[in-house]
Amino acid sequence: MNIILFGPPGAGKGTQAKKLVDFYKIPQIATGDILRANVREGTELGLAAKSYMDKGELVPDEVLIGIIKNRLTEADCENGFILDGYPRTIPQADALGEILVEIEKPIDVVLNFEVPDKDLVERISGRLMCKCGASYHKTFNPPEKDGTCDACGAEIYQRADDTAEAVQNRLDVYKKQTQPLIDYYDETGILRTLDGTTDINVVFEEIKAILSEFA
Ligand code: ADP
Ligand code: AMP
Repeated sequence: MNIILFGPPGAGKGTQAKKLVDFYKIPQIATGDILRANVREGTELGLAAKSYMDKGELVPDEVLIGIIKNRLTEADCENGFILDGYPRTIPQADALGEILVEIEKPIDVVLNFEVPDKDLVERISGRLMCKCGASYHKTFNPPEKDGTCDACGAEIYQRADDTAEAVQNRLDVYKKQTQPLIDYYDETGILRTLDGTTDINVVFEEIKAILSEFA
């Protein structure tokens, strides 16, 4: 199954991606996680991306297209993949289409998470992350042990871009640059919209019901 998780920042894509990885045994490709790992490691790519990320701006398309091309051709994508946070612009979606034709792995479904802005702000401002990519929330989804990741035991932290100003900018950027992709994928007939406001496990059940249509 080749899946795109689509929706605004804070919609729950990363949270559901982790559940899908366990369920379908296919990798999550989260461009935000890849960029954050590069920032942490101080790579050239990370240094170039950091200033965009801190402000809540998109990192330039050519950087992301290069990342995604390399990642999709890795062996673990053979039986499917979950794209989380990519594509975010029309040029990224066009490039993805070309890459997928080349490697003969078309997208099966685009899952579009709908969550109102006020919930997004509340979710993002309480979000805690782990470097392994796991995502928690101080109130809605706390870890079992305070300050520690359930999945890997590492310390969890607040993301540098989960500040009030950067969040507002990310929501604006989403509306201007990313939201147009809803029509882009709707025209191809593979877009399915889901209610992202319900409990995490309820959202996952809804996703599994949608995916059973494509299995
Ligand atoms: P995204 O990857 O789309 O940016 P995340 O999966 O990181 O979003 O979720 C954003 C925040 O919202 C996290 O703190 C997460 O724990 C919380 N969250 C995710 N799904 C739900 C949900 N269905 N209900 C309440 N909180 C949620
Ligand atoms: P995310 O973890 O998906 O919320 O992404 C965090 C930040 O990484 C974004 O605000 C962007 O600065 C950058 N980023 C992640 N994915 C992309 C993408 N596909 N295109 C451009 N920038 C991205």
